[in-house]
Amino acid sequence: MENKQGNLSINSENLFPIIKKWLYSDHDIFYRELISNGCDAVTKLHKLAGMGEVTIPEGKKERVVVVVDEKEHTIRVIDTGIGMTFEEVDEYINQIAFSGATAFIEKYKDKTSDDQIIGHFGLGFYSAFMVADQVTIDTLSCQEGAAPVHWTCNGGTEYSMEEGARTEVGTEITLYLNEDSYEFSHEYRAREIIEKYCSFMPVEIYLFTTEAWEKQMEREATEVVEPEAAEAAETVEAEEAAENVEGGESAEEDKEEEEEKKEPEPQSLSDTNPLWAKHPNDCTEEEYKEFYRKVFHDYKEPLFWIHLNMDYPFNLKGILYFPKINNEYESAEGTIKLYNNRVFIADNIKEVIPEFLLLLKGVIDCPDLPLNVSRSALQNDGFVKKISDYITKKVADKLNALCNTERESYEKYWEDIHPFIKYGCLKDEKFYDRVKESLLFRDLSAKYLTLKDLNEMPSHMEDDPAAPKEEGKETPLKEVITVGYVTDEVQQSQYIKMYQDAGMNAVVLPSNLDSPFITMLEQKNEKLHFQRIDADVTGDLRAADEAVPQETTDTLTEIFRKALDREDLAVKVENLKDEGIASMLTLSEESRRMQEMLKMYGISDMGQDTPATLVLNTRNPLVRYILENREGEHTEMFCKQVYDLAAISHEPMKADAMAEFVRRSNEIMLLLTK
Ligand code: ADP
Ligand code: MG
Repeated sequence: MENKQGNLSINSENLFPIIKKWLYSDHDIFYRELISNGCDAVTKLHKLAGMGEVTIPEGKKERVVVVVDEKEHTIRVIDTGIGMTFEEVDEYINQIAFSGATAFIEKYKDKTSDDQIIGHFGLGFYSAFMVADQVTIDTLSCQEGAAPVHWTCNGGTEYSMEEGARTEVGTEITLYLNEDSYEFSHEYRAREIIEKYCSFMPVEIYLFTTEAWEKQMEREATEVVEPEAAEAAETVEAEEAAENVEGGESAEEDKEEEEEKKEPEPQSLSDTNPLWAKHPNDCTEEEYKEFYRKVFHDYKEPLFWIHLNMDYPFNLKGILYFPKINNEYESAEGTIKLYNNRVFIADNIKEVIPEFLLLLKGVIDCPDLPLNVSRSALQNDGFVKKISDYITKKVADKLNALCNTERESYEKYWEDIHPFIKYGCLKDEKFYDRVKESLLFRDLSAKYLTLKDLNEMPSHMEDDPAAPKEEGKETPLKEVITVGYVTDEVQQSQYIKMYQDAGMNAVVLPSNLDSPFITMLEQKNEKLHFQRIDADVTGDLRAADEAVPQETTDTLTEIFRKALDREDLAVKVENLKDEGIASMLTLSEESRRMQEMLKMYGISDMGQDTPATLVLNTRNPLVRYILENREGEHTEMFCKQVYDLAAISHEPMKADAMAEFVRRSNEIMLLLTK
């Protein structure tokens, strides 16, 4: 073999400094690149052997071993793969890899921000120079008669290649870390990084310190080559142990001693058979839960999951879990791990996974994903859009299936998943169209209604001020279905009771997503109109008596405006069925939505009094007392109390008003003692 020295075929002298600077934020990916190269090499050899192209020595292990040395500041990545010939190193490392790297650099020269680039694929082997001053390769090809190769490069543009000393087929890469990167040779750090990127690679991966690796090699060297012989030896031992039972303690002691001497079997850091790669029919419920615990360290059980399994027109596998949510804020914290052929790329890539799905937890493996492109390019990629559509569709299908065939469980899940579904509907019209049949609305008796149920509720005709008037005709009437809703069952309990007593129903919409959500539903469902139950007094709540005389309304308005010192106070007088109710505050639905919108934009309290209307019930004795005793000694105090009682069940009181209410309540009780 002729030795070879030369200049790496690149145009830029500054390649390495650029690599180092650019990929600053995730230097740790070199582990992923080198280990995945090792896995590739092992897989290739396995395939060649399967085809009978090469013969593998008996007992040869298929694995990638990482050996860290924190004293020497070195990392070795050793694989039992196909290895490379002299020509291959020259072609794949000296030329191809470098031209790949330079093309990459050219492309992103102007992009200074790190997160522009996903995965940094294409940089591959050369990512080692992000952390190492010097890198060597020792490799022996599986090709018959191949000579071992030793390659070394010190991070400049020069390399050297000569005959090496490796005797086993495979490759060993050694990194001599630069001063800034010593941390990567610490065992715990290495483990952390390998677990992050390599947990599901298709080949077993082991991590050792230099000392542990030497011990391991010694052990392997003395291992009986023929596995049957080893097994036979074990059985004999076991039988002997069984015979010794009579001898009691001494045998047990022997055994204990033996076990102490035995090093624990090294454990692979990779699960070479991840659950998502299996066929859904072959996975058990327990396996899904176990996988969830292992990957997300979440010990609350997931509600349910979706196994994605697609081969055509693109390859995509994965499992999405609907997590159990404890409160609404927590729900924003999902994680979707994206893999490319078992190699971890990143968490929560918005460009690939629809934003609302980021509330879920899951893994997605898509080998076809174009990853050596910038995020913005990914965003505009039609293929990526298809992936995202596919996932959305699968999620919708699952929800519909649950709703149709497991309605009872689905209703139980609903309280956990509704924020997610509502958010999805708001974010993605297509998703809404897909799941609209499976949207649920809990009513006052804790029954669940569907959108269809709501749409089939009795409708009535209503003036629509927005509808265009035809010439010479009255305002056209619009058919509406008014759905009453409650946002807070405790605070609005007075209204709920009134509603129920009058035989009326309402739905409960507790989440702060509900306000934009119902606005959207109204746009999509022409007849549907949502109205909080304290927005207005409707017919069914009124007694069948004749209408309240205008004079009564005028007088009560005057009394209350004066007592409360509010000239602008809107007062409405009604004949409510329930005599026990003196007063209520109502706020028109439009005003409430407006308020909520302002709140969303951070414009909440503008110091104004609430635009709510005070509704007084003439059938209530206290209101009648006020009406008949407008100059009474305590009338003003009663008016204030009546107003505050209405306010309490309308919205949380302000501090001053609350203090005054408590003080006045005490004063009233004191009156009773006189
Ligand atoms: P990529 O993996 O995307 O092809 P890399 O820069 O990581 O790019 O590697 C370049 C090439 O070098 C690989 O395609 C492979 O042919 C060769 N190579 C790298 N590492 C190994 C290895 N451990 N064993 C055998 N071949 C390797
Ligand atoms: Mg590679």
